[in-house]
This record gives sequence, C-alpha cells and structure tokens, in this order.
Amino acid sequence: MIVEIVSTGTELLLGEILDSNAQFLSTRLNELGFSVLYRTTVGDNHERMASVLKTALQRADIVITTGGLGPTQGDITKEVTAKIFDLPMVLDEASLEHINQFFAKRDICMPTSNKKQAEFALGAEIIPNNFGTAPGMSIKQADKMIINLPGPPAELQGIFEEQVVPYLFKNFGYQGIIYSKTLKMFGMGESSVANSLEKIISTQDNPTIAIYARNSDVLVRLTAKAQDEQHAQNLLEQTEQQVRACLGEFIYGVNAEELQAVVAQELLTKQQTISLAESCTGGLVTAMLTEIPGCSNFLKGSIVCYSNESKIRELQVEPISLQTHGAVSEQVAKQMAIGVRKLMQTDIGVGITGIAGPDGGSDLKPVGLVYVAIATENKVVCQRYIFTGSRNVVRHRVAKTALMNVFKIIKHKEF
Ligand code: ATP
Ligand code: MG
Repeated sequence: MIVEIVSTGTELLLGEILDSNAQFLSTRLNELGFSVLYRTTVGDNHERMASVLKTALQRADIVITTGGLGPTQGDITKEVTAKIFDLPMVLDEASLEHINQFFAKRDICMPTSNKKQAEFALGAEIIPNNFGTAPGMSIKQADKMIINLPGPPAELQGIFEEQVVPYLFKNFGYQGIIYSKTLKMFGMGESSVANSLEKIISTQDNPTIAIYARNSDVLVRLTAKAQDEQHAQNLLEQTEQQVRACLGEFIYGVNAEELQAVVAQELLTKQQTISLAESCTGGLVTAMLTEIPGCSNFLKGSIVCYSNESKIRELQVEPISLQTHGAVSEQVAKQMAIGVRKLMQTDIGVGITGIAGPDGGSDLKPVGLVYVAIATENKVVCQRYIFTGSRNVVRHRVAKTALMNVFKIIKHKEF
C-alpha cells in the first residue's frame, strides 16, 4: 500500500516549526509495512491544498494529512478534502457533544467557533480524538482513501496509535513487517563504502541498503520487508553477512551502539586494562571512555601531555627523539604509549600526538597530521594519519581513530 503524507500549515513552510508529525508518521507507517513514497507540505490555502491532495490521490492509495482541524479560519483541511470528493459538510451531533464535554470538564464554555470541529464530509468516517477536541475524518472512494488527522503532535500520535492503526488494518489488512538494522562503521568514507557495496546493492532490493554519514561514522542501514519477524531477520542476517565479508574490519557495532561502549565491552571481556597519553586530543579519548559506567575496571589513568617537558617528565620520552623528530612523530607517539603503559601499569598504552590546527602546520608536518601508537606487552604499533576539517572535527576524528585501533587490536587479540 502506497501512502503519501501531506503536512498542512503555513507555519511549516515559513520554517517556524519542524515537521515532526511527518517524521512520526513515516516511522510508524513503515514499521507497519506501509510504503511511504511521498511527503508533501502545503500551506493553509484552498486551491493549493486541493491541488496537492489531487496529485497525492493519483500516486498513492492512502493520503494522510496532518493539521488544520482546528476551529480557526485557517483550519481548512476537512473542507478541502470534502470538496475534492464533491461532498457537503454536515454537523455530527455526537462529536459536538464530545467537544462540549471536553470543555465542560475543564469548566469552560465551548466557544462557538469550535462547532466547526464537529462538521464532517457527508458519509465520512469520523475518527474519535480522545487527546483533544478535533476528531479526525476519513473518506474512502473507489480504492483511494484520505485520512485527516490533527496537527498538535501529542494529539496526532495519540489518535494514530489508538484509532488509525486498527483502522488501517481493518481496511487494508496486515501489511507484513519491516525490520531495520544499522551497521556502524568508522575509518572509511561514505563514497568508498558505497563503491565497495555497489554490487550487493545493485543485485537486491530486499533488504534495501542505505548508506549515510553521521559524526564521522558511516552508517549502513539494512531494511527488510517480510511476512513475519523470523523471515525479516533471516533476510537481514544474509545481507549483513555479505556486507561484513566486504567491509567487516570497519564495522564496530550495530544500531545504537557507541564506539566507546563497544571498546569498553571488549576490554572487559578480554580482561585488558588501558591507559592513554593524550597530546592533541587533550583527554578526549579518556573522557569518552569515562562515559561508560564501571570504566574503572579497565581504565587505570591517563596523562594529558601537551608540552615537551611533560612528555619527558611524565612519560620518559627521550629528549633526543623530540629534538630529532619533533613532538609530532612516530618515535614520540610510540614512546608516549610505552611510557604511559609503564607508568599506569596497564596491558595497553595509547600515545596520541598531532597537529589539530588551525595553525602550527608546515609543509613537512601539515595541520591534521596525527600519530596514534598502541603499546602492548609484546609490541608497539603506530599509524600515521592526515585528517582534514576544523580543530574540533580533527580532534574528534583522532579520538575515534584511537578507539577504533584499540578495538581492532583487542578484538583480534593482537596483544
Ligand atoms: P488546533 O486545533 O490546535 O488548531 P489543528 O489540527 O488545526 O490543531 P494546526 O492548527 O495545523 O492543527 O497546528 C496546531 C499546532 O500543532 C501547530 O501550531 C504546531 O505547534 C503543531 N503542529 C502542526 N503541524 C505540525 C507538524 N507537521 N509537525 C509538528 N508540529 C505540528
Ligand atoms: Mg489549527
């Protein structure tokens, strides 16, 4: 079943409010197995709203409107809907009584303008509103249906769950089920991910695969449609395996899992402790790890060592290395990792040094140059990166890179 959501209200077009109703309806309708293929926004104007509704009826089976059921002049959705079906508006006494009671309960006399909320297209089904004064309305002609719902989000959500969901199932039957799973990746750009998955994406449409970037992560969202949960899960599982076979090394978690939580979990499971020597990240990685309750079980301590002196004093970095290679170098990053590991007596030591910018770069060492070293009992590894972006973006990416590197090492037991 194809659905179009029509959000009405000039305030939406002016940008005064965000269209959270459309987001809510999209989410819920998709979960219920309806295909939301179009969303339109239109102001409180008769001609334009009529034109939008007519277009929507041509390309969707079900059109759901939100807003414009109120008592004011600008509330015209039901009238416009009635008009395009050529139906007159008539008063419904039961609804009028319900609205009267709504006001009476609050000890207020019903304003005469609210009477309009009890008027519906002749023959329309009235959708009771137990969350406010304005009932919704539904008209079905041939195979097409328009459902008018109120605009205030609490009313819209209440009436949708209580009345519209059973009403849709009664009229259109069970639509199957839609299940989604998001694979969270770090360390690869959005377009590279898209290239790598091109073949998988082009050869199937259930599950669908959507790729998008958020907070330096790339999210791969798999959405399966099936008759029941088991089938949907099976479909997701198969595609997930394909994606993992292709890009598994960049995937750190699924759905709402955060990188720091996943790293913490790995450290706990493998019973590894960690300490960090942070220069350009200024404690950011440590702060992220301390977001996790119980972090004292794996995080022993960290040193923020911004100056050369503190690197020498706290971490035993050799002055000659600083002189010869500079503070932002592989040698110094490695010595920081070794130094902090020894100082804090942990299984893993991390050393981070770099130029976060915007100043301080040179041809040889540009802004964004960063070294991340990890020391374990048996070895020290160091990676060199050049990040771009503002100071904060660089610092954030460095922090996530360090966590991702730690994650890979523990996961593959390379310690
Ligand atoms: P009322 O009886 O309050 O007039 P209504 O059904 O006529 O309700 P509108 O007048 O269109 O609905 O909107 C009422 C309020 O609901 C708006 O001022 C706004 O705060 C909120 N609202 C309306 N549409 C949306 C939307 N699409 N997303 C989020 N909020 C909305
Ligand atoms: Mg209104």
